Amino acid sequence: MKFNPANEIQDLQYFGEFGGVNPSISDSSTYTFLTAKSMSDTFEGTAEGCYLYSRHTSPSNLHLAEALAAMEGTEAANVSASGMGAITPVILQLCGAGDHVVSSRTIYGGTYAFLKNFAPRLNINTSFVDITNLASVEANINENTKIIFCETVSNPLLEVADIEGLVKLAKKYNLKLIVDNTFSPLSVSPVKLGADVVIHSLTKFINGSSDTVGGVICGTTEFIDSLKSVIDGASMLLGPTMDSLRSASVLKNLRTLHLRIKQHSYNATYLAHKFEADGLKTVYPGLASHPSHQLYKTMINDEFGFGGMFTIDVGSIAKANALMELMQHKNLGYLAVSLGFYKTLFSAPGTSTSSEIPEEEQAQMGLSDGIIRFSIGLDNDIERTYKMMKACMKELNIL
Ligand code: PLP
Repeated sequence: MKFNPANEIQDLQYFGEFGGVNPSISDSSTYTFLTAKSMSDTFEGTAEGCYLYSRHTSPSNLHLAEALAAMEGTEAANVSASGMGAITPVILQLCGAGDHVVSSRTIYGGTYAFLKNFAPRLNINTSFVDITNLASVEANINENTKIIFCETVSNPLLEVADIEGLVKLAKKYNLKLIVDNTFSPLSVSPVKLGADVVIHSLTKFINGSSDTVGGVICGTTEFIDSLKSVIDGASMLLGPTMDSLRSASVLKNLRTLHLRIKQHSYNATYLAHKFEADGLKTVYPGLASHPSHQLYKTMINDEFGFGGMFTIDVGSIAKANALMELMQHKNLGYLAVSLGFYKTLFSAPGTSTSSEIPEEEQAQMGLSDGIIRFSIGLDNDIERTYKMMKACMKELNIL
């Protein structure tokens, strides 16, 4: 049977300590041992089922990790305090001084800044490439390369990484393929396509409430254990631990992810088609005009659609700012970074989430300053939303 990430989550069963329908929240930073021997065994990793300290893991974090591993079809997962708290330990666990990364050049600005400005301090250097051009990816691999890093659907340009093509390169050169799947949970299952590690910023669609930051790393048991090692694990030693209260609340929100993603996709598809037909330069993987539309169709788990993100280019930053302010004024959404909220969120990435990328590099990658990134909300009546957005565009002579 075809892998269905939502069924994998649904098929898990949890009970609380007193038969509750939700698992009990672990409200402890540390744990008692019945014997001193079991404490030392736990530190050596030889005692199953014992908890040592909540920076290492907690029962609540394990519940959420189990559900996210099921969703991605991996053996294990480790949750973290933020998406960056997932990305940076993965890179640092797999790369040391002298190693090299091949990364997509269109990635979240924080990941770009980490690879471009911070990792070189540790002598980890990165070649940024057009990830849609496999020949260019291959040409940039050298004998020090350890990982290929990409986003399934990139932030903010919505370029699609050919995961199966990248898997072939990773195998050929014995590299790990790390995929940030934040923009496309449920829609794409990168490990099922052959990727080694999948990361999410839980802050976005997965939690969906814009009330916390969070992250997850999904991979093999061996890799997740290595991140949590008390001796040399990047997650354990850098300490980006999620709090148990938060992991319990993210787990509850995960229950509705399948419904939300379908509605985000439905609404974004509706608006993207309408705006394109109105003559606006619209980028959405669900549009036939998207350069990777055919490829993306082969990658997605159909029922979850093409996702909730699209961009339009209104020509200048002045127009983009005026439109976003007017749409906020009309209560069509919020002028805010981030994504995956019930309400539509919009921002101009060139001056916000991608401002870490120097202007000339933004120009090279096609990130012009009139681009507005939309994370389309769960609006019940998307036709009404469209009419109201169009009225804003007319008022500002954008349409
Ligand atoms: N990955 C992507 C694709 C993102 O958009 C973001 C944040 O915007 C992150 C990672 C970082 O996540 P967080 O803000 O939870 O650290």
